[in-house]
Parts: sequence; C-alpha cells; structure tokens
Amino acid sequence: MSFTLAIVGRPNVGKSTLFNRLVGRRLALVDDQPGVTRDLREGAAKLADLRFTVVDTAGLEDAYDDSLQGRMRRLTERAVAMADATLFVIDARAGVTANDEVFADILRKSGRPVLLAANKAEGNAGQSGLLDAFSLGLGEPLALSAEHGEGMADLAQVLRPLI
Ligand code: GDP
Ligand code: MG
Repeated sequence: MSFTLAIVGRPNVGKSTLFNRLVGRRLALVDDQPGVTRDLREGAAKLADLRFTVVDTAGLEDAYDDSLQGRMRRLTERAVAMADATLFVIDARAGVTANDEVFADILRKSGRPVLLAANKAEGNAGQSGLLDAFSLGLGEPLALSAEHGEGMADLAQVLRPLI
C-alpha cells in the first residue's frame, strides 16, 4: 500500500497547484476563481526520492454559504481518514484566517500526523503569514511556493521519516 498524503485547506491557498507540481500532470484543475475543482482527486506523487499517493481536496469552492463549515468538516474528515498524513496549507500572504482556524481545530482533534505549510511564500511577501502560522498549534510551518517550486526539499525532508 502506498503512503497517502492528503492536501487540505480553504479554497485558493494553492492546494491544486501543489498537487499538480507533485504529480507532474495537470490532473487537478487550478483556477484564479474559486469554484473550479471538485471533491477529492488522487495522483501518483514524486518528490525528490519519495514516491507516494497525494490527494487534493476541493469541493469547498462552491460552498461559500452557511454550509461552508459543515462541508469543510465532512470533506476534511474524509481526506484525513483515507490518508496516512495530512498537509494543511494556508496562504502565507493572507495570514491565518478564521476558516484556517476551523481546519486547524479539525486536524488537531484528528490525532493523525499533520504537516503545516504556508504557501505563496516566495519573496518576502509571506514572512508575517509564516510567523502567524505558528499560532495554529500544529508545529513549525514549512514555507512553500507551489507555483515557483520553492520549499520542496524541506517538504521532502519532513515527509521522508513518515513514509
Ligand atoms: P486551491 O483552491 O487551494 O486548490 O488553490 P489553487 O491551486 O487553485 O491556486 C489558487 C491561486 O493561487 C491560483 O491563482 C494560483 O496560481 C495561485 N498560487 C498557487 N500557488 C502559489 C504560490 O506559491 N505563489 C503565488 N503567488 N500564487 C500561488
Ligand atoms: Mg483546488
């Protein structure tokens, strides 16, 4: 059985961009507009010497109504249950939002391995968001830029002992 990593986080933080980078094919849709990707997508990931299954969670993008938090909870719980570890992504440029706190709460309570990543951290724009991320209580955040491929060696380093 392949090690499975689920990528979770609120819409627009760059989950699908990271998924595509790990899978190397455009299996997950990426769009500037919330509302494009759906539900869960699986792909075969390659990262340095590591090979594993990666799951992109979507299906939240069309849920900006009063059911958003319920959908977030259900989808995240499904992803966490099927995964050996979860990568929780926030937007380093936006900092920690109220919805990020909801995810963090779900993930802390899951009792499963969680890695925290602050994406869009290329350049200096993500510095304060990266520091903010410590407040989520999920350990040290990785600084990533899924779009520019930065932080991938650090991601491999934290994943390697889990796989
Ligand atoms: P998702 O909703 O979490 O799956 O996010 P997407 O992968 O669809 O990305 C949402 C937007 O963020 C798109 O416009 C991406 O091009 C952009 N994005 C993703 N990763 C990065 C990054 O590392 N840096 C910057 N600046 N933008 C990014
Ligand atoms: Mg997506």
